[in-house]
Amino acid sequence: MTKPTVPALEGWFTLDAEKPHLIGTQCKSCGTYYFPKQSVFCKNPDCNGEAFDEVQLSRTGKVWSFTNACYQPPEPYVSADPFVPYTIIAVELEKEKMIVLGQAVEGVDVSQLKAGMGVELVLEKLFEDEQSVKLTWKWKPVA
Ligand SMILES: [Zn+2]
Repeated sequence: MTKPTVPALEGWFTLDAEKPHLIGTQCKSCGTYYFPKQSVFCKNPDCNGEAFDEVQLSRTGKVWSFTNACYQPPEPYVSADPFVPYTIIAVELEKEKMIVLGQAVEGVDVSQLKAGMGVELVLEKLFEDEQSVKLTWKWKPVA
């Protein structure tokens, strides 16, 4: 029997296996993008916006920074349990120019990364339990 595949975090990304997108919000007043979603008040100090549109963010960007994550990340980030060290990449999204953190795909470590290289968003297994395989977004270097 195959286990169902479910998102580790509900509503954070689309489940399109080929071209997944992170789901963020955009302030209706000033256009600032947010990920994770912001929906109560705009953090832009010059904006009084309280209305947001849900948007699919760019699924490509450039490596801004990266590191080995050797400790368990804080909530709401979900990680494998027991914790396995992984590579974390800070990516500047193509269109929004905002920085979004994510794990590197399996098999990619810091020695293969450099600032400015192109990456795209993919969905990969985070961990699995008795019931299902939990998916999360990861960054994959593009050739
Ligand atoms: Zn705003």
